[in-house]
Amino acid sequence: MKISRRGFFKTAGAGAATGVLGGQAKQSLAALPVREDPFAGAASTTSVCPFCAVGCGTIVKSLDGKVVHIDGDPEHPINQGALCSKGLAFSQTVNSPGRIQTVRYRAPGSDKWEEKSWEWALPRIARLIKDTRDATLVQEKDGHAVNRNEGMACLGGAALDNEECYLYAKMARALGVVYLEHQARI
Ligand code: SF4
Repeated sequence: MKISRRGFFKTAGAGAATGVLGGQAKQSLAALPVREDPFAGAASTTSVCPFCAVGCGTIVKSLDGKVVHIDGDPEHPINQGALCSKGLAFSQTVNSPGRIQTVRYRAPGSDKWEEKSWEWALPRIARLIKDTRDATLVQEKDGHAVNRNEGMACLGGAALDNEECYLYAKMARALGVVYLEHQARI
C-alpha cells in the first residue's frame, strides 16, 4: 500500500489522539468511587414475568424472604435481557402487603370469605371437577362421538412456562374441556 506524506501525518496524528483519549478515559474510570453491590448476599433465581403472553425471562434477587431486585435474563431466548416497565416493577406484586397467600372460600349465598387450608381445598376442587365433568359430558352429537365437557372452562396464566402449559392443556383435553383460554388473550 502506498501512502502519501500528508496521509502519513494524518494517520499518525489520529493514532496519537486516540491513545491520549484512551489514556484519559482509563484515568477517569480509575478515579470513580467503587460502589458497593446493593444486593450482596441476595439469592438469584430465574423466573418468568407473569403479566403478558410475551413471557420474558427474569432474574429475581431475594433477601430475607423479600424480592429486592428484578432484571431481564440475558440468556433467555425471548427477551435477551430486556424487560418492559411492567416486568421491571413486578416485585411490587410479590412484596405487596395486600397479596393473598392463603386459600379463601366464600360459601354459596354467603357474603363472607373464610380462610381454609390446602388440605381442605384440594380434595374439594377434585370432587367438584369430577362431579361437573360427569354431569355435563356430552358423549355423542348427531350420531358422532364428541366426548365434550360443556360444563367447565380452563384458564391458563402468563406465568406458566412451556412445560406447565403443555401439562395444563393435556389435563384439560383429558377432561374433555373445549373452552381452554389464556389470561393474556382476554
Ligand atoms: S416484561 Fe413486559 S413484555 Fe415481557 S412478559 Fe412482562 S409485561 Fe410482557
